Amino acid sequence: MKTAIVTGGAGFMGSHLVDKLVHNGFFVAVIDNLATGTWDNLKDHGPQQVLKLTWDITEDPSDIPPLNQVNQVDAVIHLASAASPVHYRRLALETLRVNSLGTENALKLAKKFHARFILGSTSEVYGDPQISPQPESYWGHVNPNGERACYDEGKRFGEALAMEYHRQFGIDLRILRFFNCYGPRMQSEDGRVVPNFVRQALDGKPLTVYGDGRQTRSFCYVSDEVEGIYQAIVHDNLSGEVFNIGNPEERTILDFAKVVAQIGGVPLKTEFRPLPADDPTNRCPDITKARKYLGWYPQVSLEEGLDKTFAYFRQSDS
Ligand code: UDP
Repeated sequence: MKTAIVTGGAGFMGSHLVDKLVHNGFFVAVIDNLATGTWDNLKDHGPQQVLKLTWDITEDPSDIPPLNQVNQVDAVIHLASAASPVHYRRLALETLRVNSLGTENALKLAKKFHARFILGSTSEVYGDPQISPQPESYWGHVNPNGERACYDEGKRFGEALAMEYHRQFGIDLRILRFFNCYGPRMQSEDGRVVPNFVRQALDGKPLTVYGDGRQTRSFCYVSDEVEGIYQAIVHDNLSGEVFNIGNPEERTILDFAKVVAQIGGVPLKTEFRPLPADDPTNRCPDITKARKYLGWYPQVSLEEGLDKTFAYFRQSDS
């Protein structure tokens, strides 16, 4: 049986990845401090499939006793971090630490087990991009000490560190830059635009559009995102490669609000709020590289993905 370690595996994206790994015959050790995740997300998996370790990866993982029973690991996937701007502002120092100290501890696990290492990075490394769509070769345009820097620069540091482990110790590394992922298991108080708008539509409230709503994002449904991660785990001969994983269908936030209202079956009502500091004006992945090397591209339309997300939020209410 193949074994994977997933940090942040009790979170939104992480738990969907754990589901997929288990479905494909992996045993998964999940390390999560439950800062933004919950073991509820993995309640369908017993100890034969998933080892649930409540642990902060910024602390030395060689001190986790149950992990000593694991003697072979094929892949370490490091996803632990707050990812919503609201949460990473609230947990700014923790976010810096998990993306620096936490990344090094996860890399040390990969080194110890001679495992493949998958770094969960982000489109935020591009900051407020000056080219569109963004290819992996773009270096970005980031405010190094602004309100989003704990996340943007934390992830950029993590990329630099992981690449150094790859160069110096031959770690079999793949860096994945995720673009605005959404779907079931997002928390309604998460603060990101998808759960905010879906929650507001269900409650009959106006959708809170920040700024003038002309900023763009590209939304990727979680099953597509997780398929991309899985392909990066199982493909050989990709060491040291960086991939954008996201849906290249770009929309303004105002346009997105219209689609949410339509799928939610409510009239469109909006309420404009101030734009948060350093909110990127645009974001759209160039996925040519993922298509070519991973054979991956998104399959789920925004309408279909939102429909499933609405169903999840409705069911969580009942
Ligand atoms: N946004 C919005 N209303 C909300 C929440 C977010 O208009 O209730 C905007 C936000 O300013 C940003 C975009 O939606 O331009 C995506 O925000 P999110 O927090 O989901 O993720 P980001 O891409 O900024 O990390």
